[in-house]
Amino acid sequence: MRIVLLGGPGAGKGTQAQKLSEKFSLPHIATGDILRQAVKDGTEMGIKAKSYMDKGLLVPDEVVIGIIKDRFNQDDVKSGFVLDGFPRTVPQAESLDSITKEMNMPIDAVVNIKTSPDVVVERLSGRRTCKECQTVYHIVYSPPKVDGKCDRCGGELYQRDDDKEETIRKRLDVYEKQTFPLLEYYKNSGKLLEVCGDVSIDEVFESIVQALKK
Ligand code: AMP
Repeated sequence: MRIVLLGGPGAGKGTQAQKLSEKFSLPHIATGDILRQAVKDGTEMGIKAKSYMDKGLLVPDEVVIGIIKDRFNQDDVKSGFVLDGFPRTVPQAESLDSITKEMNMPIDAVVNIKTSPDVVVERLSGRRTCKECQTVYHIVYSPPKVDGKCDRCGGELYQRDDDKEETIRKRLDVYEKQTFPLLEYYKNSGKLLEVCGDVSIDEVFESIVQALKK
């Protein structure tokens, strides 16, 4: 199965992508995770990307499209994938179309997780991420078993720099202007499925699984 997850910041794309990846044994491809790793490794791309990410802006299309092209060269994507955080602009969606067409691996479904802005700010400001494996927690709604430590790998949890309130607002603004138009793009493709993201993690997951069955 080849799935794209869409939704604004804090819609729960990462959490749901991880669950889908486990349920269907698919690689979880998150451009945000790949970029954060590059920042951590101090690569040239990471240094360039950080200046955009810290401001809540999108990293230039050619950088993220390059990341996706590299990732799609790895063998595991042949069994399918869950894309999380890509595409985020119409040019990125067009590139994804041509990459998947060239590889003869059409996208099966594009799932849009819809959320209200007030839910999003509360979620993102309480979000904590594992430094090692990127697993996502929430200090109230899905806390780790041991404070500050990842349940999966024992890694240290941290608050992303872009999960601070001012940057969250900027990211919401960027989403409205640059990513929202993607919904029209995918509506025309007939592959768009919409689910409500304002409910619990398990309820959102169930709606996604049901929508995918149809
Ligand atoms: P995420 O982890 O998906 O919330 O992404 C965190 C940040 O990484 C975003 O706010 C952007 O700065 C950058 N980023 C991730 N994916 C993309 C993308 N497809 N296009 C542009 N920037 C991206």
